[in-house]
Parts: sequence; C-alpha cells; structure tokens
Amino acid sequence: MNYETQILNTKYQQPDVYGALSMPVYYTASFEFPNAKAMSDAFSGRSPAPSYSRIANPTTTHLEDRVRGVTGAQSVTALNTGMAAIAHALINTSEAGLNIVASKHLFGNSVSLMRDTLGALGVETRFVDFTHIEEVGKAIDDKTCALFFEIITNPQLFVADIQSLAELAHSHGIPLMADTTVVPFSVFKAKEQGIDIELVSSTKYIGSGTGLGGLIIDYGTFDWSQSPSSVLHARTKKVGKRLAFTARLKTELLTNLGALMTPQVAYQETLGLDTLNIRFNRQASTTQWLAEQCQSIPQIKRVNYTGLNDNPYHELATKQFGTLHGAVFTISLESKEAAYAFIDKLKVIRRATNLFDRKSLAIHPASTIFVTFTDEQRAAMQVDDTLIRLSIGLEDPEDLLEDIKQAVQ
Ligand SMILES: *Cc1c(COP(=O)(O)O)cnc(C)c1O
Repeated sequence: MNYETQILNTKYQQPDVYGALSMPVYYTASFEFPNAKAMSDAFSGRSPAPSYSRIANPTTTHLEDRVRGVTGAQSVTALNTGMAAIAHALINTSEAGLNIVASKHLFGNSVSLMRDTLGALGVETRFVDFTHIEEVGKAIDDKTCALFFEIITNPQLFVADIQSLAELAHSHGIPLMADTTVVPFSVFKAKEQGIDIELVSSTKYIGSGTGLGGLIIDYGTFDWSQSPSSVLHARTKKVGKRLAFTARLKTELLTNLGALMTPQVAYQETLGLDTLNIRFNRQASTTQWLAEQCQSIPQIKRVNYTGLNDNPYHELATKQFGTLHGAVFTISLESKEAAYAFIDKLKVIRRATNLFDRKSLAIHPASTIFVTFTDEQRAAMQVDDTLIRLSIGLEDPEDLLEDIKQAVQ
C-alpha cells in the first residue's frame, strides 16, 4: 500500500463502540478499571490498557500507530513539541561523561539544548561540519553516544551524505540520529538510508501550523548493547538489544518528564497525516517552480534551493530525497535595507516564523531567529543580513510569484 492508502486504513487498537470513522478524542486524564487485577495488570505493563494520560492516551497512541505503519518503525513516541522529541531522544541516549557529535548547522534551540542544558548535566557536544565526513570521524571517541544532524540544514540548505554518515556511525557502534523535519516521511525513507532514530517537529508539515508536536521514530535497527550509556546497556539485559531505547523512553522518561502529546493535538495531527503527502507534493512543486522563476528576477542576487540544477547539493539531495526538495528556499537581495523593504511590501506571503504552514511565510533570519548570535557566529553559520527565507504554502503559485515580483521593486 502506498502512503495515502495506508495512512487512511490504520485500525484503532480497540474498535469504537459507535463505529466512529474519525478517531474519537479521549479528553480524559484517567481511565477506570473493572477490578483490582485489571488495574494492577495495566500498571505493571502486563496489559496494554491505558491508566493515565501522562503515560498513554488512546488518541495519541492512534497517531503513533499510524506513523509506525507508514514508516515501518519498531516504535513511535509522540511528544508535545519538536524540541521535546529531540530533548527526550538525547537525554535517553546520553549520560554525564559521554559526548554527542553534532552538526554545527542546526536549529538554534537544538544547539542551545546540547551546549547549555545537556552541557550543565555533564554531557559534552562536539559541533562539527557534517558535510565534511572526515571532521565527523575525528570528533568520535569511545565516549561518543550519538551522531546528530539535520537532513537539510536551515537556512543554509546544506545536505550531508547520509549513507556515509550511517556507515561511519555504525562502524563505531554509534546510533545515527537525524532531525528530518524538512522532508516528511511520506517521501523520505529514513530507515533505508541508515538512520536509527528519526526526530520530527510535527508542528511543521504534519500539523501545518495548527499546534505544536514532535515525534521520535525508533527503527529498531541499533544494537544498544554497543552504547557507552550504562543505563541503556543495563536495559538491553532486560528487554533485548533493539528495544532498550524505546523501553527506557516509554517507561522512564515519559513518566518522569511528562511531555507526552495531548489527545487534542494528536487528533489534529491525525487529520494532518491524511493530507500530508498531497500537501507536500503541492508545496514542494510550487517551491521548485518559484525558485526557478526567481532566478530571472534581476533584483534577486542569489536563489538557494537544492532543487535547482546549479545548487552544489542538487545531485546528492536528489539521490536522497527524490525529485521533490521541500518547501523552503532562500533569496539574497542587494542589502539588509532591500531585504527589509521586500518583507514590508509583501501582500500575500505572511511575515511570520515557522515552516511548512499551509500559508506562505517570509522571515529575515539574521534579525530574528539568529538575533542573539554575534556577527561572527552568524557569519560562521552563513546567515548574512541580505538573506530572506521563504516557506511556501498552498496558495496559487502565480499569485505568489506576483507578490515576490512587486515586493522586490
Ligand atoms: C521547528 C523545528 C524544530 C523544533 O520544533 P518545535 O515543534 O517548534 O519544538 C526542530 N528542528 C527543526 C528542523 C525545526 O524546523
């Protein structure tokens, strides 16, 4: 079955008493039991019955089941935000004295999470350029517990060679973790590329801007008995080599950190999954066309999009992601003033942060998302102040082009 058919045919774990075709939303904190034995079975994990919505809720479980079905994962965990998904995955894998080797081109909060939050807990992060595989190799040692990167960086749009990274990680007995938010799993098959743990901000394409959510997708491909984490190592003795990560995540971290996705958001994101691939196809096709058109607008000095033939990552991106390269691209204008004037003149494209909303959005990264960084740090991340990031939505492509043309005047 292809994506659309499979996603629309995922069964509920328990049939709804009324046969509701749309997933009911279980607005409840707690679940009632017929007797003491059933209650004890649920609490001890002998039965799958939910006990309390901090640990599991049927609406949230249904979203996880759908994602598991279409990705072929061993298990999926839905959290309150994309950041919660990334934080849980890294906390689950690391401990004081271990290190993470991460890309130096990452979503800003992921950098701060590793450098500041995990750093204070005794976990070191080594930030290196993941498009230079030898730099990644040099940073690894026997205390490295994870490799972490984004499949297309934003706003630079750098692309790392995933299969080479997977080979490197696995030859050292290290799991490969990727934030794949920019290309959804309806088209990008992370498991086939060698990614062990996939992290998604479902706020983006899936929720399409209606709420916040995150997913941890565990493919069950990594043998956690190789991990330098003593906690995970001990888990493998109880649950087996492939299940240790998810077992700890579901029974320890979810319970103790309290960030499971709420049923309300899970319902919205379930609706989002139904149309994910259709929206992605339309948004990515419009983006390809717009990026091509923007190349012949004289006021635009540079168009950066991996779907363009002259892009240095075009070939690698096409091999890894196929012919659709996502719905975000950047343009560079003459100066910061020109970039500000462009943003101010937009009539259809909205002035807002976020990616892959149903509406098209424009932002000036240097003075917003990267405003707390120094000029040198911004230069190192290749975020200069002539750059504008455009996230393309579902509007008519011609109307978007007209808007860009009138705004560059
Ligand atoms: C938005 C985003 C995140 C964080 O997701 P939230 O749902 O906002 O917490 C992480 N990584 C990438 C690549 C993102 O675009």
